[in-house]
Amino acid sequence: MANSNQQPIYILAENSKRTTGKDAQRNNIMAAKIVAETVRTTLGPKGMDKMLVSSLGDIIVTNDGVTILEEMQIEHPGAKMVVEVAKTQENEVGDGTTTAVILAGELLKNAEALLDKEIHPTVITKGYRMAAERAHEILNIISESVDEKSIDKLKSIAATAMVGKGAESAKELLSEIAVKAVKQVLEKKDNKVTVNKDNIKIEKKTGAGIKESELVLGITIDKEKLHPGMPDVVRDAKIVLIDSALEVKSTEIDTKIQIDDPSKMQAFLDMEERMLKDMVEKIKKSGAKVVICQKGIDDLVQHYLAREDIYAVRRVKRSDMEKLVRATGGKIITKLNDLTEKDLGFAGRVSAKKVGDEDMTYVEECKDAKAVTILVRGGTEHVVDEVERAVKDAIGDICAAIDVGKIVAGAGSVELELAREIRAYSTSFSGREQLAVQAFADALEVIPITLAENAGLDPIDTLTELKASHEKGEKWAGLNVYTGKVMNAWSEGVLEPLKIKTQAIKSATEVAEMILRIDDVLASSGSSKNMSGMPPGGMPEM
Ligand code: ADP
Ligand code: MG
Repeated sequence: MANSNQQPIYILAENSKRTTGKDAQRNNIMAAKIVAETVRTTLGPKGMDKMLVSSLGDIIVTNDGVTILEEMQIEHPGAKMVVEVAKTQENEVGDGTTTAVILAGELLKNAEALLDKEIHPTVITKGYRMAAERAHEILNIISESVDEKSIDKLKSIAATAMVGKGAESAKELLSEIAVKAVKQVLEKKDNKVTVNKDNIKIEKKTGAGIKESELVLGITIDKEKLHPGMPDVVRDAKIVLIDSALEVKSTEIDTKIQIDDPSKMQAFLDMEERMLKDMVEKIKKSGAKVVICQKGIDDLVQHYLAREDIYAVRRVKRSDMEKLVRATGGKIITKLNDLTEKDLGFAGRVSAKKVGDEDMTYVEECKDAKAVTILVRGGTEHVVDEVERAVKDAIGDICAAIDVGKIVAGAGSVELELAREIRAYSTSFSGREQLAVQAFADALEVIPITLAENAGLDPIDTLTELKASHEKGEKWAGLNVYTGKVMNAWSEGVLEPLKIKTQAIKSATEVAEMILRIDDVLASSGSSKNMSGMPPGGMPEM
């Protein structure tokens, strides 16, 4: 556009870039599809892993959608919006990140086909929104109830989260551990069960097989016993948790103490010693047999503690101190003067243990531990890291199942059932909207299709068989990725929390809608490098 004087008018800064209309839309859709394409091969039990190498050469081998996308340093703004879907899924549930991203990509891909048919984006977004709402209704109807007492179901949920990941070889043990851990820390208030995942500490240690992973009913601390004279094991231990240093305070600024008489020197040292001894006296008097200190402990104090057979560790992380409060029932004290027996925590056993080549302290057999530790073992760093991610997914799924109280079957069954129901629902719309609702139903089928592809099966044949079973009313008919046959995913124990599915559909639909509504991309010069795929030439004349 030009004004009557043919003078171009610039309203944007020099070097800003702008794409408008279809270009902007197609560009974002393309980017979103590429993101989805990237993680697609990792979906399901037969999904492959990716090796990510950082600029520093650090290596991550993973199958976890959100980890892959976070490490990829994606810059395209449209692609970044899809990465956000994975992050939301991670924060809200902890699992299902790949599913959410693939779904978003497929919704956009199908939208593109509708755009090609000159269907307006607002019609598509409206159809998608209606379909998503309907999906939630259907999910609530077809899902089944579960609670914290359904141990077997919870174990199946944990195992489903772990198949196809590094943790699979020990999935029975790890699901048992994950369920026990969640049960231990869950809290009941007014008939509502809540779980705070933060109370499950995951400690990784290399040097042993995955099967040697264990649940500690308490906290393991990455610190060694301070003095060889201290006991290796303390049974029925009363524990004091201190967050100040057991030292004679050194002054902030350099001070000089002038001593002009050798006897005064001795008196000074004696006084210091007395203060330190006094600390140990106070601890001893409280009945504590274990000292866990967030700050330093003076050598002399260590020595006196050892003489009293008191076990001590120092420089313990604040987060561990807080977990110890929940595990042992003790209080963190700041001043030893205030210490009473009531402040002490309790553990059936506190001991020094060598794990791998590291010295650790175990505070375990706590009476009613409201914080626990899962000690994840594995041969190498890469293995323990991937096992940790899988265990976290499993814990997230168990929590989501208990929190919402509903679960569904996986292996593509729930998506196919939804697709079937939404297709039926689409007939209540006319013309173009109906096409959009159908496109949503088709998009859901990307999950079973991808599971089949990743298992090396023919996606079309597989889908046809699966759909036939659903038509016959088998709502949990899913894909057995090992045999290629149709299976009842529910009775085979391929279970997932309802929340994985509702959250994935919600965020995927939202991002698809958002991207479809964009018809103008204005990028300031600073972000110009982000706009890969933008036509060159900068801002057009107005
Ligand atoms: P996400 O990041 O989405 O959780 P996963 O790689 O964990 O991706 O794959 C999850 C998908 O794999 C779900 O659709 C789930 O139903 C499916 N799945 C899990 N276990 C099985 C199984 N034993 N057989 C078939 N499908 C399975
Ligand atoms: Mg998963």
